[in-house]
Amino acid sequence: MRQQDPIIVSLTKEGLTIDCLFSYNRRSKEVQETIDQGIIDHWSGHYKITDDIKKAIMVFCEAKNMPPHDFDSHLQVHVHIRHVQREDISKRRTVRIYYKPSLFLPAHVASPFYRRLWGIFKTGQIESIGLNWSPKYPGYMVLPTQTPMRCLPHVAAHEAGHIFGLGDAYGAWYRFYEPARDTSGYMMRDNTQVREQEIAMLIRAHATGRMQYFPRIFRPSSVFKGLMRALTSPFKRISKKRNR
Ligand SMILES: [Zn+2]
Repeated sequence: MRQQDPIIVSLTKEGLTIDCLFSYNRRSKEVQETIDQGIIDHWSGHYKITDDIKKAIMVFCEAKNMPPHDFDSHLQVHVHIRHVQREDISKRRTVRIYYKPSLFLPAHVASPFYRRLWGIFKTGQIESIGLNWSPKYPGYMVLPTQTPMRCLPHVAAHEAGHIFGLGDAYGAWYRFYEPARDTSGYMMRDNTQVREQEIAMLIRAHATGRMQYFPRIFRPSSVFKGLMRALTSPFKRISKKRNR
């Protein structure tokens, strides 16, 4: 059954392989390569084996009934991406990627509406209202056509993080406007670089079948500041336009 999942994570002596099957909408033809390469470049690599990764590998091997893997000091991660033209002709499910104009929403990964209903009860996370993740149904990706070309590889790599089973680390409203501690320069915080902790979260997500979230902190001052920003930004935008 698992061989039909859109994202298949496997572990061998050579390292960790993330095998992706994507289906793109027609509009994305000219950017497919940029998106694929962004995901491959950011997630593939040579990661130091931290305690966190070591524990995640143990959980993974246990879940898959594999003998425990012993890696020396580093873990090699490889990302492979394949495409199918049409979802319905593939035996394996795909991750659908839409490159399209998006007036109100920034880039995001979401679940179809029917799956959103019970996500929050499963995880207790507000974040799962939009994405009720499972290895079988990791969601679909929307990348707005307004995304500047130089940002697209980074944005695609961040969104791939959600497809791989990770939550956000930046101060989003569903995180009470407070970023996760010590995550500056993380892929899930500011689209910068995939860190060891994020690789451990990916392994755990695929071992347990559950999305992995960065710890949330509730700080009333951040909530107040975040709400004020959200409320005033539309007016600021209007006044800026008038001044131009
Ligand atoms: Zn995100």
